Amino acid sequence: MTGERVFVFVDEEELFSVMKDLDCLYCRIPVTASKHHLKKKHLRFAIYYKDSGIGKFSIPCYCSDGGHGRSHWHCPMCSKILHRTQNYKIHITNHGVEMTDKSTVELQPTTVLLESLRADSEDKTAGKAACQKCGILFTTTSNLRRHERLQHGQDQQPILCIDAKNAIYVTPKYLHGPRVPIHIRKSFTLQILLCELEECWDFMKAQAQSGNPGKECRHLVRTNHAGHYVPPPPLCVNSLEEMSHKHLLSASEKHECQEMNSRACIQGVDCVYPIFWGEHDLSERCVFFSVYTDLEDKWCPFGRTRVSFDTKSVNWKCLCKHKRSRCVHKCLSMWWLFQERPELLHSALDVHAERVDALEEAVRDAEDVV
Ligand SMILES: [Zn+2]
Ligand SMILES: [Zn+2]
Ligand SMILES: [Zn+2]
Ligand SMILES: [Zn+2]
Ligand SMILES: [Zn+2]
Ligand SMILES: [Zn+2]
Repeated sequence: MTGERVFVFVDEEELFSVMKDLDCLYCRIPVTASKHHLKKKHLRFAIYYKDSGIGKFSIPCYCSDGGHGRSHWHCPMCSKILHRTQNYKIHITNHGVEMTDKSTVELQPTTVLLESLRADSEDKTAGKAACQKCGILFTTTSNLRRHERLQHGQDQQPILCIDAKNAIYVTPKYLHGPRVPIHIRKSFTLQILLCELEECWDFMKAQAQSGNPGKECRHLVRTNHAGHYVPPPPLCVNSLEEMSHKHLLSASEKHECQEMNSRACIQGVDCVYPIFWGEHDLSERCVFFSVYTDLEDKWCPFGRTRVSFDTKSVNWKCLCKHKRSRCVHKCLSMWWLFQERPELLHSALDVHAERVDALEEAVRDAEDVV
């Protein structure tokens, strides 16, 4: 073992023996690590959990890493420091451990368990098991396998981070159909755990009331395998001018689009974030857009709406009150498509085109398609 501090224990005796009446390693102010001190300051608040079937516990720390003697938790698996107990519980649950009650009899440590803990610790210094898909570290390979099954198993749906600043992601609502995306928000630092779906909201509330706070809905758990935010090609004024010249947008629509885009820019977010599930082995018939709304409402709780474009039926939809008629969100999405993937607007045309200037008509007609 190295001289590093240990942040996970299997029994109290182990904790008592670590410092043997020397100064407490978990306190900023020098104090003898007597049994009395350890019990009063640390054990009283310990968090108990099961890691690969072995009962373990973590103790709160008051060292200078936490700043000014504030109590905090050191994650034994990735060395992250968390201040709030609740966040710490969520954090280590994400590493694959299960929260338990201290009194659970089956968790009493035995010599066998102690030995397997030592094996784990050796594992840890030799190199922790990391998930290939999301990079999360685990103390044991069995925890890693459990995580892979739960997080990357049957329910492996794509998820994209579309706004790193506000921790907003998009992921399909259902496991079937056109994979309509919904927005979710998750950030440990911002202490946010939100899903756009009301049913998920209810589910998490019910879980919290039954003593399982921080339990994530099926959409939020997918953030564990989300990649980093990748900025999409930004909207350019030139292409908007071109659309305007081709009479694809009215003067007022053009103005609205410009306004909304600059407001998004001021906020440091993407006005239009395109979602091509076709790149994730799903149907590419529908293209979706997460569009900035500059307001929060029932239809856009996180300040973004969803625009859908069916490339076959040339059908545009938005979650705002305009639903199927033209709105600034659809115009913004058309702007992006016109600029970056014009062939998708044109291929829609090939089906319907009867005249040379039909592009304009097709875009305008889109509002009438039901
Ligand atoms: Zn102490
Ligand atoms: Zn500390
Ligand atoms: Zn951790
Ligand atoms: Zn993973
Ligand atoms: Zn959800
Ligand atoms: Zn709209």
